[in-house]
Amino acid sequence: MQTHRMLVGGKWAPARSGQTFPSLDPATGRVIGLFQQGDARDVDLAVAAAAKAFPAWRNTPPPTRARVLFRLAALLQQRKEELARLVSLEMGKVLPEARGDVQEAIDTAEYFAGEGRRLFGTTTTSELREKAALTIRVPVGIVACITPWNFPVAIPSWKVLPALVCGNTVILKPSSDTPLCATRFVQLLQEAGAPAGVVNLVTGPGETVGDALVTHPQVQGISFTGNGSTGEGIIRKAGMKKVGVEGGGKNGIIILPDADLALALEGVVWGGYGTSGQRCTAASRVIVHEKIQEKFERLLAARVRSLRLGPGLRAGTEVGPLINARAVEKVHGYTQLGLQEGARLRCGGTIPKGKGFFYQPTLFTDVQPDMRIAREEIFGPAVSLLTVRSLDEAIDVMNDIPYGLSSAVYTKNITSAFRAIHRIEAGITYVNASTTGAEVHLPFGGVKATGHTREAGWTGVEEFTHLKTVYIDYSGRLQRAQMDGVDGGGTSKRSGSPFTRTPRRRP
Ligand code: NAP
Repeated sequence: MQTHRMLVGGKWAPARSGQTFPSLDPATGRVIGLFQQGDARDVDLAVAAAAKAFPAWRNTPPPTRARVLFRLAALLQQRKEELARLVSLEMGKVLPEARGDVQEAIDTAEYFAGEGRRLFGTTTTSELREKAALTIRVPVGIVACITPWNFPVAIPSWKVLPALVCGNTVILKPSSDTPLCATRFVQLLQEAGAPAGVVNLVTGPGETVGDALVTHPQVQGISFTGNGSTGEGIIRKAGMKKVGVEGGGKNGIIILPDADLALALEGVVWGGYGTSGQRCTAASRVIVHEKIQEKFERLLAARVRSLRLGPGLRAGTEVGPLINARAVEKVHGYTQLGLQEGARLRCGGTIPKGKGFFYQPTLFTDVQPDMRIAREEIFGPAVSLLTVRSLDEAIDVMNDIPYGLSSAVYTKNITSAFRAIHRIEAGITYVNASTTGAEVHLPFGGVKATGHTREAGWTGVEEFTHLKTVYIDYSGRLQRAQMDGVDGGGTSKRSGSPFTRTPRRRP
């Protein structure tokens, strides 16, 4: 059994505690590697290494920093299959989706490498003569990236890569369920030429390693993706640090009577059961118009019953395992709750016998909007079907939850589509496509209890930079905003203030 180390200041090191923890293959429950159980002492060392590396990295021209990302993109491309197999092994998603996870990191590396030659600020006018006004982007400093397990390569890439190109030094604290994928990602970054201390990896429990990062006085930025309640705790503890938090979702698909039902069916199956429902954008609610409800329900139930459950690495598997035994218990708890609440279990709802953390794809119908199964994030292969009488009612149901991440509407009517786009309270709305399928060059994030950060795309650099406002006065005299420019933009009007001197005569 291989014991993996943490990366601190360019060296692969053991944890101070001398302890390790295992990472499991969720398809079998077998241990696939041992990882360092870091604690606050390791965080202190990683922060010291990141602080030491910061001045040189900040002063490295962004196009030079970007070369590390270009090289990483090439390395990820070369090792795509090997890495995808690791993702499938450690996280459980089916191999084609695992390839997508790695591809997302390649796309992210390429996109943010391009930022090395952008990182745009703004130039604008000044109210005073002979004065320039502009903004530039400066790095936040030492940034902690705290990531979940469900996209074990893609999500670390969304955070670490923009942070690096913006000139920050980084400490990655990955999920304790997927430390192997994170270790491999960081090894490749090192191979791509990230200097010592610029990227550090500390593994270990969120309550100790994560907490030590969040409360460390030298850590100036935190980028967190995970459970909303963990995120709220982080916001409370982070004080004045720059914090980006993205939490969970309870995403819905609206299907109107004029929709292409075959297309909508594929969208619901992909959104609801892809990645075994363990995506923040998973379609866990389907809001169907009463005119097509019976037909759609029949089609969906048949399709869900036919889904092939199995190990992610087995060819032909459509739904892989859940991440761990706790997740199976949680999903099953929601099945029991749904039955108690009076929803109808159309299929699934059972834990298959045998090894691994599997759950039978589950469909509840006759679900009411106030039931907990329709409001809370289950994060498993469980979909609730709700029936409505109009588009307005569908949108009300869609919005009547605390979350606001992704959403979708299936319709051929342009008016219905635009009404839905404008009225749905979510960070993302798809038309005639499922709730999942973000592309890296567009902003990604939610509203309401999901969060409000916008990762990826041109907004991806905002999380990892401060805007500095710069005024350059080349008039050679004291010019006072809001005072000297008011009467026609000149500087000749004098207020008689003792701070105003006679303008110097220019040659
Ligand atoms: P989680 O339990 O909140 O863990 C996320 C990360 O936070 C892990 O690295 C975890 O470490 C760490 N952590 C735990 N407690 C902490 C603390 N007190 N202080 C600092 N860090 C702490 O979430 P998860 O189960 O890994 O991920 C699933 C959730 O992520 C779902 O709710 C899903 O919707 C959400 N998600 C959201 C998005 C989005 O962009 N909106 C994307 C993907 C996933 P340990 O693993 O060691 O506990």
